[in-house]
Amino acid sequence: MADFMTSNQRSRAMSAVRASETKIEIKLRSELHKRGFRFRKNVKDLPGRPDIVLPKHRCAIFVHGCFWHHHSHCKRSKLPTTRRVFWTNKIKENVKRDRRQMRRLRVAGWRVIVVWECQLNHATAGETVVQQITSRIMRPRV
Ligand SMILES: [Zn+2]
Repeated sequence: MADFMTSNQRSRAMSAVRASETKIEIKLRSELHKRGFRFRKNVKDLPGRPDIVLPKHRCAIFVHGCFWHHHSHCKRSKLPTTRRVFWTNKIKENVKRDRRQMRRLRVAGWRVIVVWECQLNHATAGETVVQQITSRIMRPRV
């Protein structure tokens, strides 16, 4: 997301980021499907438009890109060195919006799970993450 890009290049770079998020979503969906979970995707009528929604478990999953949603302490969330203020504000807004939308979901009785791009990227780490996610989906409510 360097600053020397034209707006055309920038939008291409952004769609590459979205494409890689989509790849991770697809991976997670197929893992969940293999394990017998049934879900809806990109549910527009819920706050934040969760990427994966399991209505039976009242569970909403967001697959977050580390940069755009600011995965703290993650090297992928590092801001560009140029136009620091612009990027800081932009990412701050995203984080605020995420928090607001997740709060709305929780208040409405949804269990919210955030999966970070970097967690699913490695094949072996991905397996562990999928297990953690399924056990969170299944965890009894108190
Ligand atoms: Zn990350």
